[in-house]
Amino acid sequence: MSFSDQAYDTNIYIKRSDCEFRKEYVKDVTYNVQYCLPKGDHYFGLVNIDLTLNKIPHSRLFLDFRGVSISGLTVNGTLVEEATCFRDHKIYLPSNLLLGDGQNNKISINVHNKYRKDGMGLHTFNDNQDNVRLQFINNIQAQYLYTQFEADYCHFVIPVFDQPDIKAKWTFSAVVPTEWNVVSNEAVDESASERMETALAAVKQSASIFGIDFASVGDVKVHTFHQSFKISTYLYAICAGPYEYQERVTEGFPKMRIYARRSLIKDCDFSEMFTVTQAGMKFYHDLFGKQYPFNKYDQIFTPEHSSGAMENVGCVTYNEIYLFRGEVPSLAKRQKFSNTNLHELAHMWFGNLVTMKWWNDLWLNESFATFMAYLCQTNAPELSYQKTSWVTFLPLKFWGISEDILSKTHPITCEINDTGEAETIFDGISYGKGASFLQIVYNLLGHDVVKQGLHAYFDKYQWQNTELKDFVGTLNEAYTQYGNEKLGKDFNFLEWCDSWLTTSGVNILEPQITYNADGSIRQLLVKQTNDLRGKNKLRAQMIDIALYDENFQPTFIRDYMISDKVELNDIDASHHVGKVTIINVNANDHAYAKIRYDQKSLDNFVASLYKVRDEVTRGQVWRNLWLLVVDRKISSLQYFDFVIQQISHESVDQIIQVALMNLTSLISLYLPTSEVLGKKRIMFETLKHLLQRSDIEPSTRVPIVDNLFGFASSPDHIKVCLDWLEIGAITSESGEEIFKLAQKHKQSIVKLVFPDPSFDLEFKNALLEKTLGDDKSDIAVNVRETCNASLPDTENKRKVWDSLIDHTTQDSIYKRGARMSGFYNWKQLDIVQPYFDEFYEILPTIYEKTPFKYVESFFYSLLPRMEIHDRHIVKLLQLKNATPDNQSNFASLLSEGTELILRQKLIREFAEKSFQEKL
Ligand SMILES: [Zn+2]
Repeated sequence: MSFSDQAYDTNIYIKRSDCEFRKEYVKDVTYNVQYCLPKGDHYFGLVNIDLTLNKIPHSRLFLDFRGVSISGLTVNGTLVEEATCFRDHKIYLPSNLLLGDGQNNKISINVHNKYRKDGMGLHTFNDNQDNVRLQFINNIQAQYLYTQFEADYCHFVIPVFDQPDIKAKWTFSAVVPTEWNVVSNEAVDESASERMETALAAVKQSASIFGIDFASVGDVKVHTFHQSFKISTYLYAICAGPYEYQERVTEGFPKMRIYARRSLIKDCDFSEMFTVTQAGMKFYHDLFGKQYPFNKYDQIFTPEHSSGAMENVGCVTYNEIYLFRGEVPSLAKRQKFSNTNLHELAHMWFGNLVTMKWWNDLWLNESFATFMAYLCQTNAPELSYQKTSWVTFLPLKFWGISEDILSKTHPITCEINDTGEAETIFDGISYGKGASFLQIVYNLLGHDVVKQGLHAYFDKYQWQNTELKDFVGTLNEAYTQYGNEKLGKDFNFLEWCDSWLTTSGVNILEPQITYNADGSIRQLLVKQTNDLRGKNKLRAQMIDIALYDENFQPTFIRDYMISDKVELNDIDASHHVGKVTIINVNANDHAYAKIRYDQKSLDNFVASLYKVRDEVTRGQVWRNLWLLVVDRKISSLQYFDFVIQQISHESVDQIIQVALMNLTSLISLYLPTSEVLGKKRIMFETLKHLLQRSDIEPSTRVPIVDNLFGFASSPDHIKVCLDWLEIGAITSESGEEIFKLAQKHKQSIVKLVFPDPSFDLEFKNALLEKTLGDDKSDIAVNVRETCNASLPDTENKRKVWDSLIDHTTQDSIYKRGARMSGFYNWKQLDIVQPYFDEFYEILPTIYEKTPFKYVESFFYSLLPRMEIHDRHIVKLLQLKNATPDNQSNFASLLSEGTELILRQKLIREFAEKSFQEKL
């Protein structure tokens, strides 16, 4: 008899209180999972669990499992025939069958479940690209599976106690089609023939229990893995499919493999990945005092990955955006991937060897890995060839600030009551602000003290779960033992940490200067104030101040500790003689704060930023001016003028990339609507001329071309792009080829044509077919989706909308994402306008019926922001007021939406006003 869970399609989160209850009783858990993972959409198998209990719990103990059905649940040999034991994603264990006092309990369950298409649990993907080739051979389908188990999606696949602090060893056997590879946390145990036979027998029996004809699975092979170390459930991993790989075995390092699906294996830069990984292992070994703690290290590119990457023990999964599909990657793109590689690797120690007790300490996990990746990338000698500087850290810090200035901001360390809340804190505070905090700690205590602290931390807590106090406590011990003269006797490290971690909001630092008649400084004050949002307070942090002379040469005042008691800090600048043109109170970017400039410095930066040699300072200015727009200290039109003036002087491609991305949002969100098309036009012309200049570095052209097509909207500019598409390259005025277009650029040009009513459908379709050719890859599929969704056709728009709000659809979350990205268009205001109101009508249903990941994607992609109406703001507020307390993730989304729209309205009005004044 099998039991199914009526609540399979409902979102139910795991409560902290339940986890604390289970932790009190359960220990020494092992999972033995024997699954058949066939092609198609279902899988099945047997799970055996061993555990001991400290004592019999006062209420019923349960496993977590979000599955279609279970059967043959036995507890210590007794079959449980109680239909209600499986409900609401839980399998309840009868107390009368459990044994207490440390005796071994044996549980076994047959499960039947379906693959998912939303990147949670066991995700399935069909590679149409490969299928074209393979369908001629035996009708083979290239189907790929991978798991994503963080935060609590392990129980979407396996019945487990899905919480980080019940670590368990697990053994896994997979029965799969013969041509598949399977990758998991440990290596395959080739000698385990007995276990292979047992697994095969187990899945055959499981098939018959669920009425599945095992012969229909076809020819199979059994992969049996070595038992894992004791690790948390969110770190287990299963990847299966016809993945291919390359291997590197080097003395002193674990065995490493890099996997990708067959049609993309040619797009891996194996050599660079292995080099970066090994450099990271060496660097972290020295800094953490422990060698890489696991047996092997596989890295695998998985299709439709739900985030950037995931640090599963010994089996890191990556999003395929990191593959260089058909393009020569820019240095910036390679640096970015190396950074992700080093981030995931750092988790092997911090997160995997020592794990947070509960999700409230997620930030420490993420900010630690984030900060360490930058530290390694800028310091490991083997990586100096990538020339990474801290300019690449700026986006992280500003991600933190941009969320810290919203009312949804939260303390870095915050209360998390269930895994639904945990899902919402994979955000700018946990990654960006947390990492900036660790950067401040590192600069404050110094490399040696931090290193001593980390050695002690890993020595003491390896294989265990910890809380924040364990981490800061260990650092404090190192600080107390080795000291730091700069900080003086009165500095209390623990109190200082508290002032950063348990509060929220960002501080503002701004200089107040009195000049002498000759332009030298009479008095320099740095004023610290609190930004409006959060539980804010003044904070102590150490800053460097740069004073620039008339030739833009800086001199520095270093290591000044800003007071957390008074707003005004009197800085001794008496040693500085001569005229000062610019003051930067956050030189070297050590501080986490909104930085303001005095009017003279601001004018000089705006006019002559290119004269500043230091790239980190230039990167800061680009970012800080953006924040000045957000705070309405300068208008969006002024920012636009600044970009036009400075972009042609900038040589660092990361800075250009960010500047142009910001400009794209600035134009569509923050400029007065009447200015949008005109400013796009100017920007396209500016960038086109820039590309054609002979003195531009080839690497600088990459971010320019990547962003260029977003500015083409007038018929003559689209015509220019079509001409380039025809010859496959951007050309100079005289027709010389200056930049070869990658496939993604060609697709961007096609995407320009589809929403435009001046081209007919026949032309559009012919162009699409010609550009995509026989490309059946997921990217090509998504391009088709975007193009189709962007057609200026009322009836078609309705169809697309209906597919987006259909919660029963079988389309993957990614395909729907591609559709959403083409839905709104400036040229179709009359067609898309009705959906602005419909969006608010349907939103509560979307929240109720679809996974939160889709809700977020739907919300951010389709929140109407082209036109701002007061009735929309009212609607958002009404929805928020009607949201019950237990839907805090939805409430937080709604309040963020309200704030973003309100901000947009004010910035547009401010720009219009300053424009009128100028006239
Ligand atoms: Zn991470």
